[in-house]
Amino acid sequence: MKLFDIKIKITLWYTFFMILLVSGVLYIFVEFTGATILDKQKSELIEVVHDTIEDIEDRDDIKFFDDGVFILLYNEKGKFLDGTAPYGFSLDYPLKEGKIEKKSERDRSQFYIYDKKIQDRGGEEIWVRGVVSDSQTKQLTTTVLRIAFFGLPLLVIISSIIGYLITKRAFLPVKKIQETAENISNSNELSLRINLPYGKDEISKLGATIDKMLERVEQSFKKEKQFTSDASHELRTPITVILAESEYILEHGESLEEAKESMEVIKRQGNRVSALINQLLFLSRVDQGSVRLKRENLDIGKTVAELCEDNRIEASRKNIDIFMENLLHTKEFCLDKLLFIRAIQNILQNGIAYGKRGGFIKVKLFENREYLVVEVEDNGIGIAQDKLNKIWDRFYQVEESRNSKNFGLGLSMVKFIIEQHEGYVEVESSLGFGTTFRLYFKKV
Ligand code: ADP
Repeated sequence: MKLFDIKIKITLWYTFFMILLVSGVLYIFVEFTGATILDKQKSELIEVVHDTIEDIEDRDDIKFFDDGVFILLYNEKGKFLDGTAPYGFSLDYPLKEGKIEKKSERDRSQFYIYDKKIQDRGGEEIWVRGVVSDSQTKQLTTTVLRIAFFGLPLLVIISSIIGYLITKRAFLPVKKIQETAENISNSNELSLRINLPYGKDEISKLGATIDKMLERVEQSFKKEKQFTSDASHELRTPITVILAESEYILEHGESLEEAKESMEVIKRQGNRVSALINQLLFLSRVDQGSVRLKRENLDIGKTVAELCEDNRIEASRKNIDIFMENLLHTKEFCLDKLLFIRAIQNILQNGIAYGKRGGFIKVKLFENREYLVVEVEDNGIGIAQDKLNKIWDRFYQVEESRNSKNFGLGLSMVKFIIEQHEGYVEVESSLGFGTTFRLYFKKV
């Protein structure tokens, strides 16, 4: 459904409710105003009759029309003496003292009369009659109805137009959201944003949330693209070497010796491709969320000591010594054995790869109340401060390390493994002096 329709719908709905409301209010107004005016006229009637009696007694001038009340005087036999009567009122209604009476004439005009008998100074009885016509009440009611008849539709039209304009204005941000979404889906341009002005209302918050979400989607798209291009790049290098080597040996290879040398190169590059594919497969499982921890009780001291032992031969090629210090008082920790080994192995291999000839690697195991901590310190080439937060990104390698036989995936895996164990990583490094990694595995 179009946005336009919603605005019209909202306008129609509240116009309808407004008509109901205004009609109700008018009805109540007409009903009660009529009754109130009548009550007021009746009390006016009594008051004016009493004022006239006082005037007669004080021999003051008599007002025959006062505050909408007509005054008529009769003698004791009911003969009209003096006064002013409203148009259409017959003068010969019988006189009756005490209460207000309603009289209807043939022409449908209605009057309220109030009679009072007094004795004048000469001792003669005089009747004072007050008369009010209900035409005043009728007039007012007619005026109100007339106003309502013309005013109500006008009021409804004006407020509907104003209401429509307000609704249209209120819906502008929604229109902007819709247009941005449409532009993104038509152009595939994820960098577009809604950019609503800051506001505390729900729509502004929705706009800001969608913008934030778009930011994240764009980032992960970029990462995804980067990942595919980096992976292809990493695969291309060894494959090019394999192809070049096999072509050379096929065309120019003369001796078994030469063939063996080439096969050696091909095997090395093949291993490299295989290692990369394994890592990529692991990462794709990570992305799919299908890597599940298989926790088991592990003798950490023993496991890490074995890992150090396994790496000693490779370290010795660079004359690097590996030391281990075990300060743990707990022997076994419940961890995923394979992932734990993978994380520590990655850190140790980095220590060797980026260690200086004749340097050292110190592995220290300790624990606190919440975490098992594996600290690996080396006195290798170190990492510049501005690169420290990038080393956890996939395929990221500091310039100087680009030629290493690795792919820049190791630390991103370490981070993932630690996060799976509800832990965290710390790294301290000083360029040219060495690096210390601290891996915190949460105790369970
Ligand atoms: P790689 O496969 O290149 O070792 P990693 O993800 O393990 O990838 O590490 C990313 C980058 O961080 C490395 O390329 C290297 O530049 C830097 N790095 C990692 N460990 C160390 C270390 N112990 N000393 C110096 N630099 C390191």
